[in-house]
Amino acid sequence: MATMMTDYTAERQAMVERQLRRRGITEQRILDAFLEVPREAFVSPEYAHLAYGDHPLPIEAQQTISQPYIVALMIEAAGIASGDKVLEVGSGSGYAAAVISRIAGEVVGIERQHALIEVSRERLERLGYDNVGIVEGDGTRGCPEEAPFDAILAAASGSHIPAPLVEQLSRGGSIVMPVGSPGWVQKLVKATKREDGSLQQTDLGGVRFVPLIGEEGWKDA
Ligand code: SAM
Repeated sequence: MATMMTDYTAERQAMVERQLRRRGITEQRILDAFLEVPREAFVSPEYAHLAYGDHPLPIEAQQTISQPYIVALMIEAAGIASGDKVLEVGSGSGYAAAVISRIAGEVVGIERQHALIEVSRERLERLGYDNVGIVEGDGTRGCPEEAPFDAILAAASGSHIPAPLVEQLSRGGSIVMPVGSPGWVQKLVKATKREDGSLQQTDLGGVRFVPLIGEEGWKDA
């Protein structure tokens, strides 16, 4: 028996217009990437009708898929060019990695929750995002076997930018990551690696993310 699929095209277009473009995300290739990726396919079926809301949503393993605007802000700040190799720490549902994959050449997502590895790999493969690889592990250590990266985005908040991420970033590349205490508003920071290896940091404003848990992050509760 055929199942009826809801068409979310109009909701996706409205999200891109109202939540992204009108809030200042103007790069067309970023807007096009959000228009292309079906966010409803990255949440469980009971949340599909809420997929284009202006907020995070629960995903498996008690984690969240971030608010679309924050994902767009991070992508824009990272200054990703076509052909770039990008690391996403905390790839969760795979949604942000899928969006980044429409802009970059290759995306490596690293995730510590085993349950999310399986679902995100299955989705990305089924939907045809063949330039995204999902690795299971502690992203505070980066992904040395895949380094260097032209840009690194962290979707979870730490007390500082982990040193391995700085080491694995190419010169001229940027890390975008929320920095601050868990349970509070954190600062979204853009750190660009200068030629001498030092970081130039910019504060992009307040955000609220789940904690980055690992060797160079917070301890598991
Ligand atoms: N980008 C994701 C998406 O599009 O669905 C949202 C991810 S959620 C806000 C943050 C994720 O970071 C969670 O899935 C969590 O398990 C993961 N995480 C936390 N600490 C981590 C670490 N050290 N390494 C890898 N993933 C981590």
